Parts: sequence; C-alpha cells; structure tokens
Amino acid sequence: MYRYETHLHTSPASKCASATVKESLEFYKSLGYDGVFITNHYTKVKNSKFPDMTQEEFIHFFFKDYEDALSLSRKIGIKVFPGAELSFEGNHFLVLGLDKDWFLAHPELREMKFSDMLNLMREEGAFVSHAHPFDERGFINHIKLMPRCVDAVEVINVQKNPFQNAMANFYADAYGLLKTAGSDNHIAGKSKKLAGIQCEEPIESVADFIEKAKAGKISIFQIEREDRESEFKDVSIEFQKLP
Ligand SMILES: [Zn+2]
Ligand SMILES: [Zn+2]
Repeated sequence: MYRYETHLHTSPASKCASATVKESLEFYKSLGYDGVFITNHYTKVKNSKFPDMTQEEFIHFFFKDYEDALSLSRKIGIKVFPGAELSFEGNHFLVLGLDKDWFLAHPELREMKFSDMLNLMREEGAFVSHAHPFDERGFINHIKLMPRCVDAVEVINVQKNPFQNAMANFYADAYGLLKTAGSDNHIAGKSKKLAGIQCEEPIESVADFIEKAKAGKISIFQIEREDRESEFKDVSIEFQKLP
C-alpha cells in the first residue's frame, strides 16, 4: 500500500507547529510514506497570527513552506502536494490541491461567503475535507456542518477523542461523504499516533487523488507506537459505539 499524510503543519507557516518542513519530510520518508499534503493554517482575511502582513504577503509566506517542501521532496524522495487548513469561525476545512498562483489570482475570496468559497474551490479542482468536525475546543463557538460544500469528512484525527471521531464517521455515513484520516501533525517525528490515507497504486497528483478517492480506491489507516524509540504498528480502526 502507498501511504499519505493528509493533515500536516510545518513551521514557520503554522505558528503552532514546532517541526520544520525538512524534519517532517524526513520523518515520513523514514516510515515509508509515498507522500504528504502540507496543510498549514490559512484564513481568508488578514491572518491574525501574522498581523503585520498584507494578505498577499501572507500568501507568499504561507506557500514558502510548500515550495521548500517541493524542492526537498526530490532530494528526500517523497511526494508533496499543496493544501491548506481553512478556518471559519473556529471550524476547520482541509482544502487540498490549490497552489499559490490560485490564491493570488482570487483576491475576491476575502469578500465571499464561506460556503460559496468552498464550492468555488471545489469547482476549480480542490478536494475539501471537513477537519475534526466535532471538535469542542474553547475557541469553537458551535459545531458547524456544511455537508453540501465538502467532498469528505476527516473521520479520524488522532488528536481528537474517540467520541468526536465516531461522530465524524457517523456524519460522513449519514450524508454519503468520502472519508479521510489525518494526524494533524505539528511535531513531525515526536508523534506517537498517526493516521492517513492509503491506496494500492501510487498517487501522482491531487487530480489523481480525487479520481481515486471518488472511485473508492482510497482507504484510511492508523498507526501507533508506545514511545518515540519504538516502531509504529498498524492499529485496526474501530469507532466507538454511539449512544
Ligand atoms: Zn484544525
Ligand atoms: Zn490542523
């Protein structure tokens, strides 16, 4: 199986990440992954984490990690695909497949209704998965579902508790949405739990990924290890029974 990380943060593009692009790529390469999507935090209006930048400056800064990853990918021998984790009132959406030129060419995003924006992105070739939809951290005012504006639901996010993942899985099933799994990795090789997607044939591009996902050729997996020195082992995916 060819394996991929779908939810990865790197420093400095994500302020909350401690691992660099290089550390992250070397880590996933050491585990035998075929590729990663780089999904740093992105906001459609002025980024509050980087208040001194204009939105255009932020887009350049944001994609610098992906561009660095792209040039390192050949040396390290792992594929990288562009992505972003979009924030909307505390809710997060993984948008896979749009690059810097696309974001620079669409300044109107700033004025757009969020649902219109997700649909525009999907029309233009992106794949959208609702990340940790049942997250209940303090900054999240309310759980918000947008089933008509996403392709998939992140049903396993290893940072979330079993109930939140089980609810995400229930949501995906109820609406017939595709499923992704991800690590929400901010610390590269310091992780003890990872999740991702796998495929019997290698994924060559985001368009190829979307085609394979829609054809039912992608499955999710989870791996864990006891401590940082031990090896990762596959764990079977079983969702908590809902009341
Ligand atoms: Zn998130
Ligand atoms: Zn994240």
